[in-house]
Amino acid sequence: MSSEAVAPATPVATTRPRAEVVPLSSPDVSDADRQRVLDVLSGRHLSLGPVLPAFEQALSQAAGTRFAVAVNSGTSALHLAVKAAGIGDGDEVITTPFSFVASANCMLYERAIPRFVDIDIRTYNIDATQIEGAVNGSTRGILPVHVFGYPADMPAILRIAEARRLSVIEDSCEAIGAGIHGRPAGSFGNSGAFAFYPNKQITTGEGGALVTDDPEVARLARSWRNQGRGDGSAWLQHERLGYNYRLSDINCALGLGQLSRLSGILADRQRVASTYNNLLARVPGVILPPQPAAESGVQMSWFVYVIRLEDEFSREDRGAVLEALRAEGIGCNNYFAPIHLQSFYGEQFGYRRGDFPITEHVADRTIALPFFNQLTEAQADTVARALGRAIGGVSRKSVAVGAIAQ
Ligand SMILES: *Cc1c(COP(=O)(O)O)cnc(C)c1O
Repeated sequence: MSSEAVAPATPVATTRPRAEVVPLSSPDVSDADRQRVLDVLSGRHLSLGPVLPAFEQALSQAAGTRFAVAVNSGTSALHLAVKAAGIGDGDEVITTPFSFVASANCMLYERAIPRFVDIDIRTYNIDATQIEGAVNGSTRGILPVHVFGYPADMPAILRIAEARRLSVIEDSCEAIGAGIHGRPAGSFGNSGAFAFYPNKQITTGEGGALVTDDPEVARLARSWRNQGRGDGSAWLQHERLGYNYRLSDINCALGLGQLSRLSGILADRQRVASTYNNLLARVPGVILPPQPAAESGVQMSWFVYVIRLEDEFSREDRGAVLEALRAEGIGCNNYFAPIHLQSFYGEQFGYRRGDFPITEHVADRTIALPFFNQLTEAQADTVARALGRAIGGVSRKSVAVGAIAQ
């Protein structure tokens, strides 16, 4: 007998989620992927074996770069990219506050300063027209993030970087397979970072990679990830201060399997996004995710499916919608929480609410819906209906409150 039968007739408000009906995310690991992992486990090289260079070779091909250096996370890749650019104490790097915290933390590791620029509400990416105005004598780089798999305006960013002699580090952690006029995300900057956590387009469990055309950047990144060892040096010879950012062959095997299916995975995600677009186009209160026009030459890689509530809804309304969705067993999240409003950024740099109004306006109203390769039309329909009910409930409540206030 299902638990439905014993559920109270009148649902009570609760913050505790019901058994999950549609999860927020779900990895797609095939039998062939599993076999690749088992093959590594049957051999003698669990780390620094032959699958690492094979994975890197396939990655550099997908990214359109000469080199790929696999590491244990996207955050590690970003850190090494910042370090390889020679960015250090007191240097400023221009970036977006509407991102995952790691895209700014990577500068703090090197005692550099993230200099935030607000976003373009049409793409949720850094507003390239405001970058010039943030450049000063301490600026050393620009770190654009391809938010939710939508490529940032790289032609404009590269023009500014060239004129001002700035390094460009692309946070492509959400954008493998995206591109502009056929040029892949990750291949525009001096270096790019990818990430392979289980909610990303492809996963290695944990993992990431730095990609670059610069042999010196690749050489340094290989040394840093492996405790500062040199190319041919003995195991206990360390040429520089390094880290243990290695990615095991077990992880690389999973990554290689996933990467070999990349085009199919991206097509699946595009299909799920299109299904949602159709179902949600007429749901009142919903603004669909930013997506490039077909003729723009901008190719997006769907990472998450994030809708925004219309402007008249408040942050509290969004909270109520999230709670209503969770009560129906629909996985969902507020996404992102702006970086400048994270407590330690406020303490260190004095940021306050109001500093980046477009970022805050968007971040107060966004909702990530369940999104993964195998999400079915029936599941998308369940989500769409639940979202419609949740928003309807909030709207009715606001109308009622308005009536009482009068
Ligand atoms: C996932 C992600 C990262 C890195 O994540 P890890 O968990 O360290 O692999 C960095 N930036 C963005 C924008 C991301 O989405």
